[in-house]
Amino acid sequence: MPREDVLASLRALLDGDAVVVERHELERYEKGWRYGRGKALAVVRPSSTEEVARLLRLASSIGLRVVAQGANTGLVGASTPDGSGEMLVLSLERLSRTLEVDPVERTVTADGGVLLSRIDAALAEHGLLFPIDLGADPSIGGMVATNTGGTRLLRYGDVRQNLLGLEAVLADGTVLDLTRPLRKNNTGFDARQLFVGTSGVFGVVTKVVMRVVPRPAQRVTAFVGLSSGAAVLGLLVHLETRLGELLTAFEAIGAAALAPVFRHQPRLRDPFGGRHPAYAVLVELSSTLGADRLALDDLLESALAERLDVADGGITDVFPGKPSELWAIRHGVSESLRQEGETLAFDVSVPRSSLAAFVDAAREAVAAGWPFVRFCDYGHWGDGGVHVNLVWNPAEAPRPAADLKAELQPRLYDLAVVRFGGSYSAEHGVGPHNQAFYDLYTPELVREVCRLLKGRLDPAGILGTVRLG
Ligand SMILES: Cc1cc2nc3c(=O)[nH]c(=O)nc-3n(C[C@H](O)[C@H](O)[C@H](O)COP(=O)(O)OP(=O)(O)OC[C@H]3O[C@@H](n4cnc5c(N)ncnc54)[C@H](O)[C@@H]3O)c2cc1C
Repeated sequence: MPREDVLASLRALLDGDAVVVERHELERYEKGWRYGRGKALAVVRPSSTEEVARLLRLASSIGLRVVAQGANTGLVGASTPDGSGEMLVLSLERLSRTLEVDPVERTVTADGGVLLSRIDAALAEHGLLFPIDLGADPSIGGMVATNTGGTRLLRYGDVRQNLLGLEAVLADGTVLDLTRPLRKNNTGFDARQLFVGTSGVFGVVTKVVMRVVPRPAQRVTAFVGLSSGAAVLGLLVHLETRLGELLTAFEAIGAAALAPVFRHQPRLRDPFGGRHPAYAVLVELSSTLGADRLALDDLLESALAERLDVADGGITDVFPGKPSELWAIRHGVSESLRQEGETLAFDVSVPRSSLAAFVDAAREAVAAGWPFVRFCDYGHWGDGGVHVNLVWNPAEAPRPAADLKAELQPRLYDLAVVRFGGSYSAEHGVGPHNQAFYDLYTPELVREVCRLLKGRLDPAGILGTVRLG
C-alpha cells in the first residue's frame, strides 16, 4: 500500500495528533539511547488498549512492520525502527492513564506506557516501593519486554520474579487478558512469561500488574574501597553472612570507571578524594523497621569493622554517606563514560564466584589486542552482573568503531559465555546489537519453539526488530 494511503488509514484509526510524521519530531523515536538508529514510516501514539488492537489489526492485514517503544531507554537497539523507512513505531507514551495501587493485594496495576518514576511516586503515598530500581526511567511495558534487573535485584529479584499479571495485544489485534493478580495459580503453562524478556516480538504489553514491597523506613549506604576483585567477592560473602536480607545492594565500580564521574559531574563530591582504589563498592542496607528499632548504621559499621580486622580482607577505605549522594555517583558512571570518547558497552554475567577471574581475563585480552582502549568495568556484582565499557579516543583508534565492535564483541562474549559459563546479555535483553550472539549461543530446540510460537502469535512477522526463532 502506498505510504500516503497507510498514513490515511492510521489517521482514521486514531485521534488528532496521535500520528507523527514530521521529520524533526520523528528523530527522538528513531535513535536509541546507546545503539539503534533507523528511519520510521511514522510514529503512532495510541492511548488505549482498543486503539493498540485496531492499529495492530490494520498492520497485520497490510503487512506493516511495527516496533513497540516505551521510554526508549533500552540498550540493545531493539526499540527503534530499522533503516528501511517502512516500519511503524508504536509508542506507548500515551497509554498511561491507569495507575492503581492496591495496598491489600500489595500490587500496582499500570498501563504499559506508565513510567517507573510515576509508579514509585504513587506507591510511596501508600508506604510501598517498586522492587526494581535503575539509573533510567523506563516504561513498565518496556521493563516487562526486557525483564529489567537493576540495582536491587539482589534483594527483590527482577521483573520476572515480581510480575503477577499482564494484558497483551497480539499482532492480529486479539487482546489477551492475563491480569488476575494471583500469587498462587499452578494451572499449567504460565503464558505471562511469553512476554517477559522477549523484546516485544510476541505481542504488545498494554497493562501490567506487579507485586510491590513495603517501603523501607531507613536505608544506610557506604562506599568501601577494595584492593582487588577477589576482595570484593570476600566482602560480598561476609556481608551476606552477617547481615542476610538487610543487604539491598552491592555495586562495584572499577577505578577506571569511577574517575570519569568526577571529571564530568563536578557537583558530585568524591569521597575518595581522587585516590581511587581498584574497586569502590557501594553497599546499601535497608529495613522496614525504623532507626529507633534497628540501628542499621551500627550494624553496617560493625560488619565492616570485622572485615577490616581480617588480614587479607583487602579493605582500603570506608566512607559512609547519604544514600542520595552515593547513588548519584553510581548512577553517574554510564553517562560519564559516554562523555569520555567512543564507547562500546557489554552487559555480561558470569557465576558470582567467577566475577574477579572473568574481569581479569577480559582486561588482559583487551590490553593485549587493543592497547589504545580503556577498560572500564562496573556493575551489579551481587547478582554476577558486570558492565564492561570500552572507551577510546576516535582520533587515536587505528580502525573505525564498527570494525572494533566486530572484533571485540565475539572476543568478550566468548570469554563470558564459553570460558566462564555466563551470559552475553545479563539484563539488557536481546536486540540488533547482540542478535548474532543470540543466534550463536541459543540452543536450536529453544529457537525452534520460538519459531512455532511466532508462527501462531504473529504469522505475518510484523512485530519487533529481533528474531528469536
Ligand atoms: C542510564 C541507564 C541505566 C540503565 N540501567 C539498567 C539496569 O540497571 N538494569 C536493567 O535491566 N536495564 C537498565 N537499563 C536499560 C533499560 O532502562 C531497560 O532495558 C528498560 O527496561 C527499557 O524500558 P523502556 O520503556 O525504555 O523500553 P524501550 O527502550 O522503549 O524498549 C525496549 C524493548 O522493549 C520493547 N517494548 C517496549 N515497550 C513495550 C511494550 N509495551 N510491549 C512490548 N514490547 C515493548 C521494545 O520493542 C524493545 O524491544 C538502563 C538504561 C539506561 C539508559
